Amino acid sequence: MSARFQAPRGTFDILPGEQAERRRVHLACVDLFTRAGYGRIETPIFEDTELFSRGVGESTDVVQKEMFTFTDQGDRSLTLRPEGTAAIVRAYVEHGMHKLPQPVKLWHWGPYFRHERPQAGRFREFNQIGAEVIGTDSPLADVELILLLGDLLGELGVPGLRLRLSSLGSPDSRAAHREELIAYLRANEGELAPDVRERIDENPLRAFDSKDEGTRAVMADAPQLVDRIDDADAEHFAEVRHLLDQAGVAYELDGTLVRGLDYYTRTVFEFESEGLDAQAATLGGGGRYDGLAEALGGPAAAGCGWAAGIERILLALNAPPPEPAADVFVAAPDGQSERAFVLVRELRGAGLHAELDLAGRSLKGQMKQADRIGARRTVILDEDGGAEVRDMSSGEQEALDLSRAVEALKP
Ligand code: AMP
Repeated sequence: MSARFQAPRGTFDILPGEQAERRRVHLACVDLFTRAGYGRIETPIFEDTELFSRGVGESTDVVQKEMFTFTDQGDRSLTLRPEGTAAIVRAYVEHGMHKLPQPVKLWHWGPYFRHERPQAGRFREFNQIGAEVIGTDSPLADVELILLLGDLLGELGVPGLRLRLSSLGSPDSRAAHREELIAYLRANEGELAPDVRERIDENPLRAFDSKDEGTRAVMADAPQLVDRIDDADAEHFAEVRHLLDQAGVAYELDGTLVRGLDYYTRTVFEFESEGLDAQAATLGGGGRYDGLAEALGGPAAAGCGWAAGIERILLALNAPPPEPAADVFVAAPDGQSERAFVLVRELRGAGLHAELDLAGRSLKGQMKQADRIGARRTVILDEDGGAEVRDMSSGEQEALDLSRAVEALKP
């Protein structure tokens, strides 16, 4: 016997029974973004590797450890996209969208790839929804984006939502803070956990995430970036907070919020659900990336955006709605299946969900099948060109005028 195949580690199949909950999330996005005037953008699944190393940042975990990179037959290095923003800003520059009235408001939905250790809510291929506003540095854009993600998660019914907010300032203030933090960690080295101590130079911000008690005590007094940002950045952040307060949105200021990608400037935020495990509690997050378009060789264009994980949202919701039941099942005795086809096509053409037997069942078997798929009504064709209709919940059965079938069978 030859070996059986399985879906690759960290990936999953999405079976028909799991589609309804995804469709609901997708429809909620289409509806929300249409009402807010965002246009959908789709970019390729793979891009030049350099787009991500330059855009996301050479020193980030995503670029160093998590990318699926391959060389094509033309000896080009390509990478399955690990995130959406770099490619969307690439498309903004490539299509000269900076010449359109600004800002350009975009949303996207699709698969992303990261070579991470699989666990609940963490996959190697996963799906994200996201939104980007490119071409303005106004705090209004930051706030609109935060509200959109909050409204989406709220409308979907995600329980226990928490919003964390901070500002990373500019790359300069970030670099100065990094030096200050490294010096502070060195001065308190004795009290730090070994894994934190080993990574002081490599990634000092990690120390803020440590669960070790000694480290946490040291970090309680550590210098926070949000207190070190310059005046213009502080003013921008104050305006974001003011607008959120005005909109009645609750948030926690969290100076330890560090996002994994290098392009962020100023505002950063994350939405969490209290119902999820700590390692995968973040439903979505994002922030400002005012230098990204230029870093990718384009014109100066400030931008802001977020991405949220579809699988995380579904985990947080934890209640798949039932698949919709069929309106009508058309059953036909032996030799009459052509008539069943004609009627099913007519009903489908009129917008009804109509099905028929495709497996050569007896009439009795077809009635069972109608029941199994949850059909509301079953049309039973007879041998003489006539038909009856059965209400599957009450069991009542009556004659059906086939020339008026659509009207009679509409839900
Ligand atoms: P990020 O681009 O890292 O900010 O990710 C945005 C959102 O995508 C996260 O908050 C998660 O909901 C989701 N996400 C990121 N990585 C994964 C993954 N490996 N598996 C499933 N969802 C993920």
